[in-house]
Amino acid sequence: MTEKITLTDEEWKERLTPEQYYVLRSKGTERPYSNEFDEHFEPGAYSCAACGQELFESNTKFNSGCGWPAFYAAKAEDRVNLHEDNTHGMKRVEVTCTNCDSHLGHIFNDAPSTPTGQRYCINSVSLKFEAK
Ligand code: FE
Repeated sequence: MTEKITLTDEEWKERLTPEQYYVLRSKGTERPYSNEFDEHFEPGAYSCAACGQELFESNTKFNSGCGWPAFYAAKAEDRVNLHEDNTHGMKRVEVTCTNCDSHLGHIFNDAPSTPTGQRYCINSVSLKFEAK
């Protein structure tokens, strides 16, 4: 485990690209379909683009058709935190990184064909991929 990361807003701005900052630190959402990992199915691991903690593995990734990378489970329960999110007129559950509190995406219970029934809908820009 890496040590929990806490940076100021200014430090995050220096460390991240503008798009990463918008999604990870301002809870933004990237465009569907034209993002890096939506249709990406190589074997490997996906880590947090802000702090490097491994979050998801390729063997839980599936093609949900929603336009963003989808996983049916996190690498371990202690990698992500879930929070009620009632913004934008929707009732959703936000997913954040436990190590740096950055925004990753949302989780939905709408994937009955997967072992958990869950769909972690994650922004590509919040992830870094390492082939294994
Ligand atoms: Fe992180």
